Order: sequence, then C-alpha cells, then structure tokens
Amino acid sequence: MRAAKNQRKTKTFMSADVETLIIGGGVVGLAIARTLAARGQDVMVLERHDRIGSETSSRNSEVIHAGIYYPPGSLRAKLCVAGKDALYQFAEENGVSHKRCRKLVVASNEDERAGLAALAANAEKNGVGDLKFLTASEARELEPELECVGALLSPSTGVIDSHGLMLALEGHLTANGGHIVLNTTASSIQRTETCGHPAFEITTALGDVMTCRNLIVAAGLGAQEIVETLDTKKQSYRTPKQYLAKGHYFSLATRCPFSHLIYPMPTGAWLGVHLTLDIAGRAKFGPDLSWTNSLSYAFEDEDGERRKAFCQSIRKFWPSMPENVLVEGYTGIRSKIYGPRQPVADFAIHGPESHGQDGLIALYGIESPGLTACLAIGDHVADMLLQA
Ligand SMILES: Cc1cc2nc3c(=O)[nH]c(=O)nc-3n(C[C@H](O)[C@H](O)[C@H](O)COP(=O)(O)OP(=O)(O)OC[C@H]3O[C@@H](n4cnc5c(N)ncnc54)[C@H](O)[C@@H]3O)c2cc1C
Repeated sequence: MRAAKNQRKTKTFMSADVETLIIGGGVVGLAIARTLAARGQDVMVLERHDRIGSETSSRNSEVIHAGIYYPPGSLRAKLCVAGKDALYQFAEENGVSHKRCRKLVVASNEDERAGLAALAANAEKNGVGDLKFLTASEARELEPELECVGALLSPSTGVIDSHGLMLALEGHLTANGGHIVLNTTASSIQRTETCGHPAFEITTALGDVMTCRNLIVAAGLGAQEIVETLDTKKQSYRTPKQYLAKGHYFSLATRCPFSHLIYPMPTGAWLGVHLTLDIAGRAKFGPDLSWTNSLSYAFEDEDGERRKAFCQSIRKFWPSMPENVLVEGYTGIRSKIYGPRQPVADFAIHGPESHGQDGLIALYGIESPGLTACLAIGDHVADMLLQA
C-alpha cells in the first residue's frame, strides 16, 4: 500500500492516495478500471485473492448472451446488448479466444412452441432482431440428435475465454498506468477529508489504510458487506438484501454431438439446464438453481438426485444421451438481490442519488449477463462518475 502511494508521488488528487479505488478484481471491476484508466483517471483495484477473477467471474458458463430474455428497458437488457457488441469487438482486437457458436432455444411441446414467439418479441424490443424461427426438421438439420417441436436460432450468441478476457482487461489497465493490488481485503470504509476535499478512507484486513477521491464497489458476493461498513444512516440508505443461488454444472465425458448451445425454454428467471460449449468445444450442462445461505462451492449430490434431475432435463432435448456420461463439474454462486418468490430484480448500480455519498458507486446483483455486459457496465459506471 505504501509502495503504491510512493509510485503516485508526482500526482496529488487533492492529497488522496489514489484518485479512484475499485474494490473487486472480477470481470466487472476490471472492466470499470480499464475504462476509467483509459479516460485518464488514476485507478487502483483491490482484490482479496491472489489472482484476479477467481470468484464468480471464473465460475460461470462463459456465454456471450444475445439479450433475449431481459425486460425491455432494464439495465440488464441495455447493457447486455451493448456489451455483447463491445465484447466481440474487444475480443477480436485483443486476441481473446471466442466463438460465435450460435444458440438454439428449443420447445419440447406445443405450449412451449407458443412461448418461442413471446421470447422473440421480447428480444426484438431489446434490439435483438436476428432471431430465426426453425421448424423441428430445420433444427434437426443443424443438430441431428436434437429432439424438439420447434426452436429459435440466435446467431449472435457465443462463448468467450473469461480468463483471457480478464487478462486482456488487466493489460489495458496497466498500460494506462492503473494497478491491481492482490491479496488485499478491504474491511471497512469511512468518509474523510484530504486537504479540505471529501475522500474515502479504506482500511484493509491487515490494518493498512489508504484514501481515495472516488470509490467503486464491484465486489460481487462481498459488495453488501463492505458497503455496510460505511455509515450512510443519515440518508436512510439500505443496501439491497443479498440472496445466494448456487448453480451446479455436470461435464460431458464423451464427445459432444452438438455444435450450438442448446437451451430449453426458461422457467421464470431460470434458463433451465442447458448445454454450453467452451472454446475448445467441451460440453457442460447447467447451471441449476439451489437457493442457499452458504458461500461454499462444494458440489452437492450425495444422494444422486441432482444427477437424476439433470438427466431428465437433458433427455427432453437429447433423448439419445448415453448412460453414465455426466461427470460432476464445478459450481458458481449467483449474488441475487431478490428471493425465491420475489419479482426478478435488475442490476443495481447505486450512485449518490441512492446513498447520498458523492464519489461512491456500488454495484449489487450483477448476475448473468454480467460477463457479457462487463464493457458496457464499465462505460456506464465511468459516465456516472465522470458526469456527476
Ligand atoms: C453459475 C453462473 C453462471 C453464469 N453464466 C454467465 C454467462 O454465461 N454469461 C454471462 O454474461 N454472465 C454469466 N454469469 C454472470 C457473471 O459471471 C457475473 O455477472 C460476473 O462474473 C460478475 O463479475 P463481478 O466482477 O461483478 O463479480 P466477481 O467475479 O465475484 O468479482 C468480485 C471480486 O471482488 C472481490 N472482493 C469481494 N469483496 C472484497 C473485499 N472486501 N476486498 C477485496 N476484494 C473483494 C472478490 O474476491 C471477487 O474477485 C454467471 C454467473 C453464475 C453464478
């Protein structure tokens, strides 16, 4: 921390140690940091682990979503559609592995087929106008082992190497003079003043203290906990309540006969057990959705019921899946800001109008499509901060 301060001795930022501090070195924090550094800000990212992106940003499906499902006008819809285009361009320009492998949303019965039209209409409102209806036989021409009564083809859905993406974002950040400090947990935030100017004072778990003019909290699962250390009571501000929803993935142990991502019709806010491919073409199924109070990433299936449920779901669209080909994979935890029986919430990006603290932006509930949207979130947050 002290070394970092010394590196900045030529800049003053009204005597704060750093102009903008970002808590959280996941894909969203890194994307925000990259944008702010590119716009001339002095930026530092604090990350509690010894590597960037080792929580949710490396425990997801790595899908570049088209923007089909989200309510029109929501941040999730707008930032997904803008973020998708930006992400393809960034990946191409920076050599990040990615693939426009396309996706099929499949209807397994006549009721679901009627739902395809509603999905396409929603997508259209979000600016996703490239979906194509397929009959069952057209879908089978693309994917001979697929069982369905109809499908929607999404040409702009793809996959990306999330680690490669984060390394490229880190490269941009450091090339513009920004820094990432690893193994450093922010444990409390206080309001302070430096040279008569408002600032934030961040204390780390090891007791180091540093000051910043602006503070961005992009701490994923840790966002509420750290913001709640700041005394915002005067503004009667409450952080959104956090709900955790774990998702399990099974990997496919044999060669995958599919070249498209295959999604069933969504069930409420959950996309259902779907098939995704990584950059190397390896297939995995999931994530499912289990509400939990625990931050454990343990794969839970002691009684085999989870495997059974996955097999049932998968066989609806792949009836000829061989026996015993599912291998326990990994899990990820969604940081949601709505509970099991509550309406789906949008991304919550809180600036001073929410909490009354100039210079503070806090992000909550950045679940899917946060990876797809990361570059657009970076622009959005930078605009909020710099235009304030
Ligand atoms: C199962 C699952 C599947 C998903 N699939 C997709 C998908 O296919 N496509 C898509 O677009 N999106 C997907 N998402 C969403 C996407 O992964 C997230 O939106 C995105 O990774 C969030 O990034 P983040 O940087 O906000 O959070 P994180 O990756 O969690 O980063 C936050 C960082 O903050 C650090 N941190 C927390 N507290 C502190 C502290 N006090 N001090 C210092 N550091 C701290 C953490 O260690 C962490 O590294 C999925 C999510 C899940 C859970």
